[in-house]
Amino acid sequence: MSFKDLKLIKPLLKAVEASGYASPTLVQQKGIPAILDRKDVIISAQTGTGKTATYALPILQQLFDRQDAPKRGKKIRALIISPTRELASQIKQNFKSYGQFSNLRAYTIFGGTSIEPQVDVLKKGIDILVATPGRLLDLHKQDFINLDYVENLVLDEADLMLALGFIDDVKKIERLCPENKQTLLLSATMPYKIEQLANGILKDPVRIDVTVTNSITKDISQTLYYVPKRRKIELCLHLLRNEIKGNVLIFRRTKFGVKKLEDRLAEKGYRVDSLHGDKNQSDRQTALNKFKNGYAKILIATDVAARGIDINELDNVLNFDMPNVAEIYIHRIGRTGRAGNIGNAYSMCSADERNYIKTIEALIDVQIPIIQDHPYPLDPKAKPPVHKKKGSRYKKGRKSAASKKKKKRWY
Ligand code: AMP
Repeated sequence: MSFKDLKLIKPLLKAVEASGYASPTLVQQKGIPAILDRKDVIISAQTGTGKTATYALPILQQLFDRQDAPKRGKKIRALIISPTRELASQIKQNFKSYGQFSNLRAYTIFGGTSIEPQVDVLKKGIDILVATPGRLLDLHKQDFINLDYVENLVLDEADLMLALGFIDDVKKIERLCPENKQTLLLSATMPYKIEQLANGILKDPVRIDVTVTNSITKDISQTLYYVPKRRKIELCLHLLRNEIKGNVLIFRRTKFGVKKLEDRLAEKGYRVDSLHGDKNQSDRQTALNKFKNGYAKILIATDVAARGIDINELDNVLNFDMPNVAEIYIHRIGRTGRAGNIGNAYSMCSADERNYIKTIEALIDVQIPIIQDHPYPLDPKAKPPVHKKKGSRYKKGRKSAASKKKKKRWY
């Protein structure tokens, strides 16, 4: 399926192409038609599945369709509620990039910053407002915000709103918007209180669930190699020479890592290609075709670049870097062992990645067999390196805000 099949208008297709998306993700395939249809929708999806574009694209399309309406005048017509300012900024960024070929204006307001600049922008008029609940209600109370013209209301990461105690605020905000709006609710999990909220405010909603299951098919053989970080490349070469038969999709966390590994493997004479964020769509497609038709036996990718690609008959997956979010592990290795074929999932884990293994194993409820007999074993007593940054805010032993967060981020 392509974005064109989803009946998106040209300015949006152009923006999607400029963002480098080859094809819609699963949640986009299911969600965009329902939202364009102006249905209320409940989406169960984690961050990283492409959920923001799932609602941003059809909302932009609806606003775009009506943007020449005579009474338009920059009223707030789409309101997105986000539990955190980080997410609010990201969402606004997404609206900006998908709406880059329109004159629709998106803006974000959140607490903890001065109110005046936000009021100035609101006075000039905007079409799409992304807001955290507290600041929104505050500005509404002071009469700087009018929600009478809202046509689309989105509650993103609803379960986090619940956890942070925003549910009553959310209900209040919903009541401030017109009755006949379209409401979309997104949540990674569906606790009872979220179901209750959804039942109270959504009308006959369509339900879309793309949360990953934590089961891994028995057709995937998993193995784990502990290895010092600096020896990973040697172990990778050893595996390519001695273990890995057939094609292999290698995952790295960063595009820099992808490029570095690609250069090293090409130097060694391997037919290798890569997918990463610096490549345009046609280069990505060429790389994919080379891999699919067997010319390149090795494809190296970041998680985001590999999203949505469908490669049948993938023999092996190699986690060169361990994913820092457990669900990504399932997503990566689920690309092999499909349709009755047997697949192999190799993972290379350095000392600083050991904690990731714990959360992965807890999620999949399986202990991944460790291969001890290899030429580059990790000293069992090796401690994770301590990164001492000048002026670091975090003292030893204190967890960062990000690591305290429950396993939320998806990729
Ligand atoms: P989200 O789940 O909305 O947080 O999206 C996670 C990441 O996926 C963002 O960096 C998006 O830019 C990216 N993304 C969204 N849709 C696609 C797509 N169809 N293909 C590739 N990347 C995408």
